[in-house]
Amino acid sequence: MRIGVFGGTFNPPHNGHKKLALEIPGRLSLDLLIIVPTHIPPHKEARMLADDEDRLNMCRLCFDEKNIVVSDVELKRDGKSYTVETLAQLKESYPDDKLYFIMGSDMLLSFHQWREPEKILEFADICAVSRHEDETEKLRNYVKKYFAECKDKFTVLEFDPIDISSTEIRNSKDTSMLPAKVAEYIKERGLYT
Ligand code: ATP
Ligand code: MG
Repeated sequence: MRIGVFGGTFNPPHNGHKKLALEIPGRLSLDLLIIVPTHIPPHKEARMLADDEDRLNMCRLCFDEKNIVVSDVELKRDGKSYTVETLAQLKESYPDDKLYFIMGSDMLLSFHQWREPEKILEFADICAVSRHEDETEKLRNYVKKYFAECKDKFTVLEFDPIDISSTEIRNSKDTSMLPAKVAEYIKERGLYT
């Protein structure tokens, strides 16, 4: 199988994440997409971070297609959620399958600073998409600059993004960029107030 892995804080998951999750599997001919909400993001100060359980539930409501599963592999692990550890665990569960780690442009552009990027590349190929208009060239140049010797492990896909972030949603309380079920859940549970 070809398996995509899409990690994030998902605080909350929004239509930008959803568009990626709906479009990219077909483009990469994936058989399965695994959504991995992060327990503790290693590289950011998470403001107004909803509980693990709430973010897991919101992911289940947001990504409800067949061929997409939401995994609690990072939520069950203590400490900071390093992608290299997650992919090592997933590789144990799916030893014969090809893994693609999928990310938006902001994440790719710091990839060389992540923990053990070379080891990540042993476990998975990387697929990156633009989060804002016209970032494709910038992403391709990044790969050339930092990972020229293993550039075949990277795929930069043309992608027409919805320019939205969870931070903007938390700050504005505007729910129009959320799947309806996620918006309802946030209201019921009184999150981000
Ligand atoms: P925050 O503002 O809290 O950082 P976010 O919207 O950036 O939230 P994350 O959970 O940090 O969401 O991102 C998870 C993954 O989804 C990352 O790889 C990120 O690049 C990607 N991503 C986030 N928003 C979008 C978007 N609008 N379009 C495409 N990819 C996105
Ligand atoms: Mg982010």
